[in-house]
Amino acid sequence: MSAPIYDRIALIGLGLIASSMFWAIKRAGLAGEVTGYARSEETRNTARRIGLCDRVCDSAVEAVEGADLVVLAVPVGAMGTVAREIAKALKPGATVTDVGSVKKHVIEVVGPELPKDVHFIPAHPLAGTEHSGPESGFAELFDNRWCLLVPVENCAPEPLARLRTLWERMGANVDEMDPEHHDLVLAVTSHAPHLIAYTMVGVADDLRRVTDSEVIKYSAAGFRDFTRIAASDPTMWRDVFLTNKEATLEILGRFTEELFALQRAIRIGDGQHLFDYFTRTRAIRRGII
Ligand code: NAD
Repeated sequence: MSAPIYDRIALIGLGLIASSMFWAIKRAGLAGEVTGYARSEETRNTARRIGLCDRVCDSAVEAVEGADLVVLAVPVGAMGTVAREIAKALKPGATVTDVGSVKKHVIEVVGPELPKDVHFIPAHPLAGTEHSGPESGFAELFDNRWCLLVPVENCAPEPLARLRTLWERMGANVDEMDPEHHDLVLAVTSHAPHLIAYTMVGVADDLRRVTDSEVIKYSAAGFRDFTRIAASDPTMWRDVFLTNKEATLEILGRFTEELFALQRAIRIGDGQHLFDYFTRTRAIRRGII
């Protein structure tokens, strides 16, 4: 157990990320009190039943009152609305952060809603599962995973250092990145792969309808491994693509070019091209732990 880093933390949105943060905060004793709020009554009741948060509040305003750190853990498309809702209730000097998967958009919509006397420090933990909701969280989710902090211009050093410490004590390795770079990197490493996985499941389903074969039932290991992330929450992913449009389209364009080149190699029987391509990409993939 380490000393609390914040007296009071408010978690807005009680899904996979917020619930994992709660358990990680409790594991290391990082806050005096953690309050929580989610829009749906059902989620709030589930949170109360499983002891998620010291106090589950019936409004976002009530949850953030007196909080030293407010974490926006809602889908990216809801960040601006939530920021507007809580703005007047924020404690002067408090830090507001988010965990959204897209950063440029969040900065654009949240920043202008917040009062000048709070510190806004966007963040993104690179950790997740295909599960969602208040019961899906666990304390170890962030262990040895990256959390990227995306400080806005003129970010005060003390609140930044404190947020960094929180993430480190929740088990994460912390780095800083600028928002454009973040969104491009994540488009390659996370956003496009999710879109492709969703697409592959759609293709298999279409094929099943045409051939009446049991493509899904007998899905082989490759299909299962590759499409695990297609079980992820549709609201979250709809918002990611709508708000990281430019970078995702850029990566999909490059992906399509490579795919067409491989398609052509298969059509003309260019085994050398396929072999060289797979040799190069296998070496890269093996370097990723
Ligand atoms: P989730 O679907 O598990 O939970 C989202 C929660 O937000 C739910 O409790 C929902 O009731 C609540 N909510 C939705 N709209 C709301 C509103 N307007 N006001 C209050 N509460 C609202 O989602 P999650 O996986 O925890 O994702 C939360 C955020 O974290 C998203 O922005 C996502 O992009 C980001 N993120 C997700 C992952 C992942 O792999 N799941 C990883 C890193 C970051």
